[in-house]
Amino acid sequence: MLVTFYGVRGSIAAPGPKTIKYGGNTSCVHVRLNTGNNVIFDAGTGIRELGIRMVQNDEPLLLLLSHGHWDHIQGYPFFGPIYQPSREIRVCQGVDTNEVALKAILEQMDGSNFPVHSEDLPSKITTVQEVDDYLNAQSFHTVRKHLNHPGGGNAYRIEEDGVSIAYITDNELDPPNAPQTTYAEWVDFCQGVDLLIHDAQYIEKDMPAKHGWGHSLISQVRQLAVDAQVKNLAMYHHDPERTDSELDEIAIESANFFKSKNSVIGSYIAAEGLVFDLTARKDFRVTTIDLYENQ
Ligand SMILES: [Zn+2]
Ligand SMILES: [Zn+2]
Repeated sequence: MLVTFYGVRGSIAAPGPKTIKYGGNTSCVHVRLNTGNNVIFDAGTGIRELGIRMVQNDEPLLLLLSHGHWDHIQGYPFFGPIYQPSREIRVCQGVDTNEVALKAILEQMDGSNFPVHSEDLPSKITTVQEVDDYLNAQSFHTVRKHLNHPGGGNAYRIEEDGVSIAYITDNELDPPNAPQTTYAEWVDFCQGVDLLIHDAQYIEKDMPAKHGWGHSLISQVRQLAVDAQVKNLAMYHHDPERTDSELDEIAIESANFFKSKNSVIGSYIAAEGLVFDLTARKDFRVTTIDLYENQ
């Protein structure tokens, strides 16, 4: 399993000199499975860059959406493979709000919000309705969990060849109202994963104003990583206001936190181009690629 980040920002794309290091594109993570299949978590603006690479091959594509908010679907009309004749793409959102979210991603291409109509695309796009049945038939194992987020949504844990990752974005670990998923259930869901990717949008001074907005405090996410004994944590879905220098400070603070807990968890700030090579656990490697070097 090879995990590459293409968009790490939450809420809205935030390009500019203060976000150039970690990146300004919204949510998109590419997982290349050992079988050659491709799982794409979310279609934020980061998916455009991924699409430039994907058009060079004809491997199967599965788009797993966390939910239908703009920052998770707006890159879709700019995803090159949807314009490739005979290209097969499956779109899954698997949650109670399934229909609404699937509609959101396709209906944004309605001739009004976007010039091309989704039904005029030449590729073969299938929206999966029986999500669990579909996922259960795949070579990798998938578990879903309901997000604590306005409008709902899904977290995913996928495992292949003994390696596991959890993708949990737009999730409030300690919401003001009764949660869809309790903290204890999250600890269970992430238990021992090789890589936990979790929404880490807020810092303490964002509260109490943003309590209930469906995102987590960085401090809560770090604690979850410890409680669930994950091997690596990638803090994700950065606030659009969070600058590179602030994220650099959070990286130091996080390393100190894990040290104080005598924890060996690998702590990372998700960044565009960050790659986790989990193809073979014994050769686990983290690298950063320059997504734009040949352009
Ligand atoms: Zn979001
Ligand atoms: Zn959201």
